[in-house]
Amino acid sequence: MVTMGMTMTTPALTQALECLQASERPLLIAHPRPDGDTIGCTLALRLALLALGKAPRIACVHPLPGNLDYLPGAAAFEVAIPEDADIDLVVAVDMSDLSRTGGIYKPAWAERLKLVVIDHHATNDAFGDVNLIEPEAAATALPMARVIHALGIPLRDDIATCLLAALITDTRGLRTETTTPAVLRFVSELVEAGGDYLGVMQRTLDAVPYKQMKAWGVALSRLQLETGIAWTTFPLAEKQALDIEDHDDLDLGNLLSQTREAQLFASLLEMRDGTVKVSLRARPGYDVAWIAKQLGGGGHTQAAGYSLPGSLDLVVRDTLALLRQELARPH
Ligand code: 5GP
Ligand code: MN
Repeated sequence: MVTMGMTMTTPALTQALECLQASERPLLIAHPRPDGDTIGCTLALRLALLALGKAPRIACVHPLPGNLDYLPGAAAFEVAIPEDADIDLVVAVDMSDLSRTGGIYKPAWAERLKLVVIDHHATNDAFGDVNLIEPEAAATALPMARVIHALGIPLRDDIATCLLAALITDTRGLRTETTTPAVLRFVSELVEAGGDYLGVMQRTLDAVPYKQMKAWGVALSRLQLETGIAWTTFPLAEKQALDIEDHDDLDLGNLLSQTREAQLFASLLEMRDGTVKVSLRARPGYDVAWIAKQLGGGGHTQAAGYSLPGSLDLVVRDTLALLRQELARPH
């Protein structure tokens, strides 16, 4: 496998490899409100470690959305890990800071366990003992594939399906500016290895639950457009009326980003804890990562997010002010 530079070795890859090889009972953590990249990569690494005879555990503080729970090994996710768990390594997958473990990671572990970070966020603050971070990568699936290859595990069909789910979701169906020819070649390698491309398209992308479709109706009926910016809000009362839980972000950012007249997109969801969860999206050439970072979140140039305390109105005001700044930059 040469297309994605799979044989390319970096000090971080070597260190990650040493940690994984030395570990017998690693804990792999996916981020809250899990997406295809964090879930697919966590499951792919779990399968590779199982193939090596190790006993990995996997955790995510939120349940898997229905469009990812068919992936091989999905039922193994745990929602909490006790502080005194019998683990000997922690791996944080597809997240840019420690708070994104959603509380799964216990501070006391810092004394006895190494933390390996495998990620692709430009905003990653290198919070691990080992940081395998590729900000230019379309998905964490790419550094993860490198790790799995370096572990000596061939791309089996189940591992390939997990990595496909990761790559296809993080590139929103292979349509981000990070979807390079090399990424497309890697997709074809995954399919050749037996990865279920059509299955991922059908069961993950074309798999919007009826309730979410109804919620899209509410969100779209509230859609606003000002020069170059399309945005909507989702008040708590509407969530309650449709029985939408807080960990379900409805994938509104991606939906809005199809609005032809806009270059920047924002969805703002009111949460039960008094915060507002914001999803930002940008067309190629525009950048929302700096806005998310400035407001305490993170992400990528084309997709970023954050949560702020306060009323919807206030968070809308602050968000729009920064989006207008981004729009006004020369592009
Ligand atoms: P989404 O809008 O789909 O929730 O997230 C888009 C991107 O921004 C993802 O890469 C996600 O990891 C990142 N992101 C979203 N919310 C937060 C946040 O609160 N903190 C950080 N650090 N990253 C976030
Ligand atoms: Mn990702």
